[in-house]
Amino acid sequence: MRTVELSICVPVYNEQDNLKLLHRAICDVVDPAGIAVELILVDDGSTDGSWKEIEALVAADPRVRGLKFLANCGETAASDAGLRAARGRYVMTMDADLQNDPADIPAFLAKLAEGWDCVCGTRVAVRGEGDSLVRVASSRIANWVRNRLSNENISDAGCTYRAFRRECVDKLKLYRGLHRFIPTLLKMEGFRVTEIPVRNNPRLHGQSKYGVWNRLFKSFHDLLAIRWMKSRLLGYHVQLELDRSRDLPGPVQVQVGASVAQSPHTAASR
Ligand code: UDP
Ligand code: MG
Repeated sequence: MRTVELSICVPVYNEQDNLKLLHRAICDVVDPAGIAVELILVDDGSTDGSWKEIEALVAADPRVRGLKFLANCGETAASDAGLRAARGRYVMTMDADLQNDPADIPAFLAKLAEGWDCVCGTRVAVRGEGDSLVRVASSRIANWVRNRLSNENISDAGCTYRAFRRECVDKLKLYRGLHRFIPTLLKMEGFRVTEIPVRNNPRLHGQSKYGVWNRLFKSFHDLLAIRWMKSRLLGYHVQLELDRSRDLPGPVQVQVGASVAQSPHTAASR
């Protein structure tokens, strides 16, 4: 099987007019640069012709893969499905609407090559270029509150244009809405996270799936959960270990399915 250097995972919800353009724009960057990619398009229960477009792209280009959800499950679920299906050494998430510019892909890869585990795009330098004033203001407030409450320093958590080493994906346990907190979740697992400035284009076709309500207020709940998780992180160092089991005769037996509750030690320590 061909070695994939980069898996590009794209959540897709009613983006029929963007997908061909997205594929073209990605090819225009990765082909001349000789980057071996796969493009994973995850149709999150679209009600327009997105899946037909995905079928056509898969038929035209074997590097394109398609996943189709039974029903709309949200951006986090669609991103998660793409990341789990990815086969590349590096993985990245990108919106379907070309607001994230594929021209930034080489910069992400260069940063990963420096040894970072996760590289997040930040639109701070170009704020306002691809979004309305209301969206820019709400994003600024959201980032300030988020960083204050979760003791973070991520300048643009709403930007889901990000790249990771594959190992990061195995450690990610996402819940609904938590795609916005992936950098924090990875830092909690000990991964090294950095940011690079990215371009921000206006959406050409279709509509944003978020308004102020489902972006700012809903994600406030999620923020409190993250804050709690951070405050309850386990942090211990085993100083010494005594274990003479290797001195015992015979192979070590691992008992599968033993009931933990039956152990007096476990019960007593509850
Ligand atoms: N998306 C999705 N499921 C949803 C909502 C959004 O897969 O329920 C996808 C959408 O098609 C896009 C990405 O998530 O590729 C980001 O959505 P959008 O561009 O609307 O967000 P914005 O850029 O406005 O924050
Ligand atoms: Mg968008």
